[in-house]
Amino acid sequence: MKLDATDLRYITSEEFRVLTAVEMGSKNHEVVPTPLIVQISGLRNGGINKLLGSLAKRNLVARIQNAKYDGFRLTYGGYDYLSMRALSKRDSMYSVGNQIGVGKESDIYIVADAEGNEMVLKLHRLGRISFRAIKEKRDYMGKRKSASWMYMSRLAAQKEWAFMKVLHEHGFPVPKPIDQARHCILMEFIDAYPLRQIANVPAPGALYSQLMDIIVRFARAGLIHGDYNEFNILVRRESGEPIVIDFPQMVSTSHANAEMYFNRDVECIRAFFRRRFNYESKLYPRFRSTMKEGSEDDEEQFRLDIMVSASGFKKSDQQVLEEYMEMTKGDHDSEEEEEEEEEEEEEDGDDVEEVEAEIPSAETPERAQSPEDNEQSEATVAGGSD
Ligand code: ADP
Ligand code: MG
Repeated sequence: MKLDATDLRYITSEEFRVLTAVEMGSKNHEVVPTPLIVQISGLRNGGINKLLGSLAKRNLVARIQNAKYDGFRLTYGGYDYLSMRALSKRDSMYSVGNQIGVGKESDIYIVADAEGNEMVLKLHRLGRISFRAIKEKRDYMGKRKSASWMYMSRLAAQKEWAFMKVLHEHGFPVPKPIDQARHCILMEFIDAYPLRQIANVPAPGALYSQLMDIIVRFARAGLIHGDYNEFNILVRRESGEPIVIDFPQMVSTSHANAEMYFNRDVECIRAFFRRRFNYESKLYPRFRSTMKEGSEDDEEQFRLDIMVSASGFKKSDQQVLEEYMEMTKGDHDSEEEEEEEEEEEEEDGDDVEEVEAEIPSAETPERAQSPEDNEQSEATVAGGSD
């Protein structure tokens, strides 16, 4: 979906009031009845139809004709709009640039602040794929009617934000978190290749050790990434340093399945290095010994999992999100899956086309040659000479 930055500036205050009213009404209604929108917005009935019409024309709300009543619901576009408006009111961002990623459960854009500094905006899109699953298991949410894409996407963003913050504050190699609003996270742009695009590394063993060290450091701080693979590890173009992204599925080392998650993360890296670089090491961390050594080691005694719970992202929210993710499992790991998307079918599937890149090291400062180079994607890596 296209984000429109110009809209950020050209919505009237009355339209904004109506849009906000639709959002508020959505907390209890899948389709918000028009009289309720009138009531919440405090505007006269006469004007409201015109305002709703103009919002609908810009795809910020959608008119729904229900069996029982007519009303409106907020669209992705409307929710995106409200988030970006909040971020721009706080001067966190100013303009929207290119989309750089379409994940199954997020859209990633390059955005900039008023000075033109580039950042990454991640919009969470839970429920885009798995809406059907949610409907089937509706009662898992109990009374909570708002088991909607909106609610789940916001939880995912809040969780990712909470984790990114504590990780960054404690010196882990993650993007610097900048701001968060609704289902959006604003973070530092990392000039990097995803590990999955990298064809050759001068010293796979060194990168492998760095990646395993990060897993161990996470665990000693009480955390397991839970989706630690070549898609969620970026390798800095300049330095070759790995940066870890994508945290909505992080779990505590006290989680009932912690050992399984930990070992799966380790196994993902091992399998990738075998496959891609033909590299295999006898050394790899195991959960139990890592945790045992960790408790004897005084250095990293901070428990980030506990800090996150204390910092506003509640245990109960984690639970809800985890149940959702449990339910929609499989969407994360596999690339291609039969899915009927209810709306906004995305043509180009996964993020970018596969290009190959080499990462630099002290030994290979020259530009890497990539056979599949093309105009759209710069596959070469700047080394020391650039
Ligand atoms: P998803 O949850 O959809 O997997 P990710 O957070 O993993 O979303 O991001 C998807 C892709 O977007 C990444 O593989 C990466 O290419 C790009 N990306 C995400 N965050 C950043 C960032 N901070 N800097 C640069 N690229 C990023
Ligand atoms: Mg990812």
